[in-house]
Amino acid sequence: MRKDFLPFSRPSISEEEIAAVDEVLRSGWITTGPKTAGFEEMFHRYCGAGGAVALSSATGGMDLLLAALDIGPGDEVVTPSMTWVSTVNLIVRHGATPVFADVDRDTLMVNAELLKPCLSEFTRLIVPVHFAGAAVDMGPIRRLAADNRIHLAEDAAHAAGTEYRGEKIGRRGTAIFSFHPIKNMTTGEGGMFCSDAPALLDRVRRLKFHGLGVDAYDRRQQGRSPQAEVLEPGYKYNMTDIAAALGTGQLGRLDSFIARRTELAQYYLERLATVDELLPLAMPAWEQRHAWHLFIVRLDIDRAGISRNSFMAELQKKNIGTGIHFRAVHEQKYYRETLKLPPGILPATEWNSERICSLPLFPAMTMDDVDDVVAAIKEVLVR
Ligand SMILES: *Cc1c(COP(=O)(O)O)cnc(C)c1O
Repeated sequence: MRKDFLPFSRPSISEEEIAAVDEVLRSGWITTGPKTAGFEEMFHRYCGAGGAVALSSATGGMDLLLAALDIGPGDEVVTPSMTWVSTVNLIVRHGATPVFADVDRDTLMVNAELLKPCLSEFTRLIVPVHFAGAAVDMGPIRRLAADNRIHLAEDAAHAAGTEYRGEKIGRRGTAIFSFHPIKNMTTGEGGMFCSDAPALLDRVRRLKFHGLGVDAYDRRQQGRSPQAEVLEPGYKYNMTDIAAALGTGQLGRLDSFIARRTELAQYYLERLATVDELLPLAMPAWEQRHAWHLFIVRLDIDRAGISRNSFMAELQKKNIGTGIHFRAVHEQKYYRETLKLPPGILPATEWNSERICSLPLFPAMTMDDVDDVVAAIKEVLVR
């Protein structure tokens, strides 16, 4: 058995990144400023996006999006239940109604066929989720949204560096990225709102900092313009320069992180091919570059004779960390009690919610670490 604990994720922070953060800390300006502006510029170039706004989280980005689109009571937002809770929480906080689309059983992603029956005259927004580093098949969804005059915004929390048909996610339309420490690149906490719609970008930029008509940092003022006044009530979701200095280094290394994650994922696939109780996610059929944010397997609970939760607990005892991405939102206490959706309504979501498990995957892992995970899995499943 492994002597030391292998977490399911761990950020890779370089000495250069630590030095860059140190420099900001000593500079006299640590909140939103030149480093944030530089990071936004670098990120929007990387994606080829129309523009990018750096934020304190992706959740903040979703809050700003719903506010900027004036989504509220009477409006419906269609998104999968197989997602992180933040999107659905905010839809409800804005007084709107979440409508859950089921996902493809083997990619965990929505598609146009699954979304279509969820649309109504009240639908204002569709939020597909790029899952685990793979890309949603956006083409048919873009047509569906355009034909029905519904807004579309991609949850790209897992998709920094992912490409769909030769284009980076974020290049087209509106996409929200996360830099939480488990994601493919991190700023500690942080997010990026990318869009090719200038009016939407302007509104998000304004709303992210109190609704003032200025940014948090004005180059000429070397600070915030003291005469700025509120144009509409806003929020406070700006990124700090401390975070942006880290993000700038991380973005410079994102492609090498993805290359390493891809090697590790390929090795997992080879090693797990003979483990009949585990079913990895399928590679989507459309052209893409997978960023391998997560390595997810589904446990065949009938064949294995144990629940997913026991499987995870047994691996933990063997010093292997795992995660769940995700427990279906509609099955969580608040949503069970308020939405009261009948069991079986989202069959593929519910099937996966009971069986999914994320295995350790991060750039500093070695092939020996993968061997340790597979050996531990085999020991747990033999019993
Ligand atoms: C991490 C995550 C988010 C939220 O990102 P934060 O930066 O933590 O707010 C949203 N959606 C998905 C699918 C995520 O995995």
